[in-house]
Amino acid sequence: MRISANHLAYTIIAFSAGAILWLTLLTVEVIEANDEFQRKIRIINDTTTKISSISNAISLSSSAANSYYTRLFSTSQKLLNNAQKKTSEEKWLRLSNLIKRAHTSLESWSQAYRSEPTSEYALRLRTQTVLQISRSLEQLQQLSTQLSSENFIYKGLLLQKVVTISGILLLLLVIVSLFYLYGFVYPLRKASKLVHTQPLTPVVTSPLLIAEIADFISAIDDSKMQLVHLSNHDLLTGLPNRKAINEHLSRALYRDTRQDQKSAVLFIDLDDFKTINDSLGHSIGDRVLQAMGERLLKTLRHNDHLARIGGDEFTVHLDNIQTTENVARISQKLIKLIAEPIDIDGHLISTRASIGIALFPDDGKTTEELLRNADAALYRAKSKGKGTYHFYTSELTRIASKKLQIEQEIKSALDEEQLELYFQPQVHMGTCELVGLEALVRWNHPERGLLTPDHFLPIASESLLIVAIGNHVLDLACRQLSQWQAENLSPPRLAINLASEQLAQENFVELVYATLAKYGIDAHCIELEITETSLLKHSNELLSDLQSLRESGIQIALDDFGTGYSSLSHLKNLPVDTLKIDRSFVSNIIHDVADATIVDAVIRLANGLGIAIVAEGVETLELAKHVYTTGCAIGQGYYYAKPMQAEQVALCIRKGKVATARCATSWV
Ligand code: C2E
Ligand code: CA
Ligand code: CA
Repeated sequence: MRISANHLAYTIIAFSAGAILWLTLLTVEVIEANDEFQRKIRIINDTTTKISSISNAISLSSSAANSYYTRLFSTSQKLLNNAQKKTSEEKWLRLSNLIKRAHTSLESWSQAYRSEPTSEYALRLRTQTVLQISRSLEQLQQLSTQLSSENFIYKGLLLQKVVTISGILLLLLVIVSLFYLYGFVYPLRKASKLVHTQPLTPVVTSPLLIAEIADFISAIDDSKMQLVHLSNHDLLTGLPNRKAINEHLSRALYRDTRQDQKSAVLFIDLDDFKTINDSLGHSIGDRVLQAMGERLLKTLRHNDHLARIGGDEFTVHLDNIQTTENVARISQKLIKLIAEPIDIDGHLISTRASIGIALFPDDGKTTEELLRNADAALYRAKSKGKGTYHFYTSELTRIASKKLQIEQEIKSALDEEQLELYFQPQVHMGTCELVGLEALVRWNHPERGLLTPDHFLPIASESLLIVAIGNHVLDLACRQLSQWQAENLSPPRLAINLASEQLAQENFVELVYATLAKYGIDAHCIELEITETSLLKHSNELLSDLQSLRESGIQIALDDFGTGYSSLSHLKNLPVDTLKIDRSFVSNIIHDVADATIVDAVIRLANGLGIAIVAEGVETLELAKHVYTTGCAIGQGYYYAKPMQAEQVALCIRKGKVATARCATSWV
């Protein structure tokens, strides 16, 4: 909560009023207490004097004692009554009783003295009276001492209170004076002028004055905040400055270390900015810098941090980065963004930038190290030919830029339809009948020729490109099926590979139905191959998606079976029609007893569960025989056919057979 000047003023006034009231009450208390003390002391002194006189008279054994007694009796009785009314304290009661007793024995002695002054009775009464009187005197003495010490303590306490309250008042006075001197002086003066020029009633002036004071204080607050802002920001672009990025980095690196996160520091430097300044003037140069700052800021994520650290130098801290390629991608995006021409007063100005990158924690663990290494990387980027980025570790630059280049190329491959499907037959090994086809993607690279998936799918998997490729393949496969159907061919079931990222798409099931509908393909015509690992990665949601696809008539095959170590007992619960035994097991069965045992077990299991089984990588007749005799009828592999183009497969489809291979019927 922010305390306004109003609050402060009211609080000080309330405190002062309270303190003054308290002080007044205390003063009254002091006066009253003092009166009471004086009164009591007077009683004691009076009584003491009178009793002493009686005592003297008695000791002189004179009849004067009697007259003293009469006087004492009237006054001390009055005083004592008064004292008793005022206090019920035990000591005062005791005093009163003692005097009463002294009074009684004095009376008795007085009578005895008058009839026979020297009689034994009179003498005894005299001794008794003297004793009572001396006790009363003693009690009076005690009371006097007690009263004085009580008064002393009481006065001390009062003094303490008075000092405390005066202290508080003094402090308030000091605060008010300080405010007056440093804070309120301007508005007070202004307000007093206001009062002079416009005679207003106090009721009106006071809120006005307070409002002015409040305004003034918030103006001071604002300017303080402005000062803090100025010390952390660059005047020209309004971006954080070098000091601010240093502070930010220290905090962020500490957090990254604790959370085991990676981050990157980018040093961006505009190439040949000096030329702009020299040829078009500094004011245009300034506007270019401002525009660049705005552009960069717009592109970065909200948790990235941008700063201007010098003339044409900016620094970015990319937080929580997953891969080096991501950093390379962002750097390339920033370079491209900076290169877009800016229109300043009709001048189209183009500039380029180089970027140096240092990664935390690999290239440095402290702010200083990272900034120094990012700077060194920038130097290398510049020397390499400007308009590029460079990682502090050169190898990273090479790998990242290679990957980025491939990503770019894949994007254009998709746009320019450079992807093509090859088809590999699945054969009944007993009869050589064509029972299925698997669509396998190829890339007709304009420079590198025909590329198999291992050249581009792993890179595509690192971004969402894999989904774009997969969806494109699904489209191409259905398109091909409809084409064959249009040629009056009856192709067998076509297997289409799915990447796990495709399965994670929210609308995947709908997409499959939509693609089938687009080309008028029946669900029974396709099989979707998912890998054992992607099945293991996914949730119940995936299983229910697969179940609903299956219910529509689409078959599901579990690809590369045996590599994902899924529990065999789990298999019976999976929505799967076919198992494909991985090539790595099949190719080994002749030489490796363990692999042969695994393949044997998997075949038995699949047969037992009523799941179809396909052996992948059947390269030789020997392998075909082995797998076939173990109980797996369908094989896919180079022995029967390599993946081939649509026109070639059309021949097989027409024949319904793979002609080149020897079938079990011809095995000897
Ligand atoms: P996969 O699904 O296991 O496909 C079978 C791979 O084994 C194919 O390689 C095929 O050419 C190869 N192959 C078939 N018979 C033999 C043989 O007898 N010996 C040997 N050595 N290899 C054989 P390809 O076409 O290079 O595909 C490699 C992998 O790329 C595929 O393995 C599949 O995982 C993936 N892939 C291919 N096309 C697609 C696609 O359209 N989408 C997705 N997501 N993945 C695909
Ligand atoms: Ca496959
Ligand atoms: Ca496979």
